[in-house]
Parts: sequence; C-alpha cells; structure tokens
Amino acid sequence: MNDRYNKVLQYNFSGLGCWLTIIAFAMLLSAVGLGWIINGVLILFLFLLFTPVIAFFGLQWWLKRNFVQDSCPVCDYEFTGLKNNQFQCPNCSEPLEVEHGKFVRITPPGTIDVEAVDVQVQVIEPEEG
Ligand SMILES: [Zn+2]
Repeated sequence: MNDRYNKVLQYNFSGLGCWLTIIAFAMLLSAVGLGWIINGVLILFLFLLFTPVIAFFGLQWWLKRNFVQDSCPVCDYEFTGLKNNQFQCPNCSEPLEVEHGKFVRITPPGTIDVEAVDVQVQVIEPEEG
C-alpha cells in the first residue's frame, strides 16, 4: 500500500507529470491573470521608455525658466546665469544677479570702482655676455 503510493507520487512529480503541472499552471495563468501581467509589463516598459524623455523635456523647461543667457554688464562676456541666485562672471568675476531677464551688477550704483587692467608682466632676461 505504502509502496504503491510512493510510485504514484514519483510518477506525478517526475517527467510528464511535472510538465503537465506546468502546462496546467500556464493555462490557468493565461485564462485568469496573464493579460494583467502582460499589461503590467507593457506599462512598466512604456514607463521606463518615457521617463527619460519626460525628464529630458522637464529639465529643458526648467532650464529655460531658471537660466538666463545675457552678457556681463562689465565686460560683455556672454554666459548663462541662474535666476534668483547670485553668481560671478566667469570672465571678470564681477558679482552679478538676474533682474528682468538681464544681468545686473550686485554692487550698488555709485560705488567707486577701480577698473582692473590686465598688466602683462614682461620678464626681461638679462643678456649674458
Ligand atoms: Zn564680466
């Protein structure tokens, strides 16, 4: 009795019986929930596909909103600055901020400003006689 039971169990869980279980399980999945799984995978795939695109356009929109391209009021060097933020001109390191879409100096008007002049240092090497 016990031997016979073991044989049946072996038959069921090895070879053909195992495959039948898998096929039955797959059929059950396709009948009940495979559509949902496929939809889920598809939605996930589209999500993964479109997230970088949306992020890219979102970033561009954000950059357009928050960055202003203008020229430095001191040295006319053209660069991009962040709105609502103080920054320095990369060319003459003048502290600037954005006002009405234009770069303005933070230094209040009237301040006596000594203009810096680039002085080229010439090293005169003594002639060797
Ligand atoms: Zn400048």
